[in-house]
Amino acid sequence: MALPREYPDENCPIARSLEIVGERWTLLIVRDAFYGARRFSDLHNHLGIPKAVLADRLAFLVSEGVLTKQANEYELTAKGRQLWPVIWSMITWGGEHLLDKPTRTYRHADCGGAIGRDRGCLRCGQVPEVGDLVAHPPRRPRDSRDDPVSEALRRPHRMLEPIRSG
Ligand SMILES: [Zn+2]
Repeated sequence: MALPREYPDENCPIARSLEIVGERWTLLIVRDAFYGARRFSDLHNHLGIPKAVLADRLAFLVSEGVLTKQANEYELTAKGRQLWPVIWSMITWGGEHLLDKPTRTYRHADCGGAIGRDRGCLRCGQVPEVGDLVAHPPRRPRDSRDDPVSEALRRPHRMLEPIRSG
C-alpha cells in the first residue's frame, strides 16, 4: 500500500527516505529485523504494537524492497541491510544524548573488539558488516520481558542470526 507523500521535496533524499522509514514504528521493526526477529508473532510480542499496524508496516516494507517475506518469515533484503548505518547512528546519538542508563554494546564477532561510534572495530580497525556484530546486553539488564526477542537479547546475540521462537 503506497502511503501518500507527506514530504513535498521530492528531490531531497532525506524526505524520500522518510517516506519509507518515517512512519511511527517502522524503524523499530527494522531494528528488530536486524536483531534477527523474523516472525510476525515475535515482532508483535516484542514491539507491543497493534497487529493491524504491524501488518501494515510489514506489507509496506516488503513492497518497498526493504524486507522479503518467505514462508511467513520476514527478512531484510540487501537494500534493507543498508539501513544499518541509520540505525547505528540513532544508537550512538540516542545513547549519548537521551539515555542515562547503560544500554547494549556491540562487539566484532571475529576478534571480540568493541565497536566504536564510527562503526569501526577498536581492536582490528575493520568496519564489520552488521552480520559480523554481536550485541551484548547491558551489565544489569532492566528488561524483564519474556517474549522470544527479549529472551534472545539477554545473552550475546549475533546480529541477523534468526531468533527462533518455540
Ligand atoms: Zn575486530
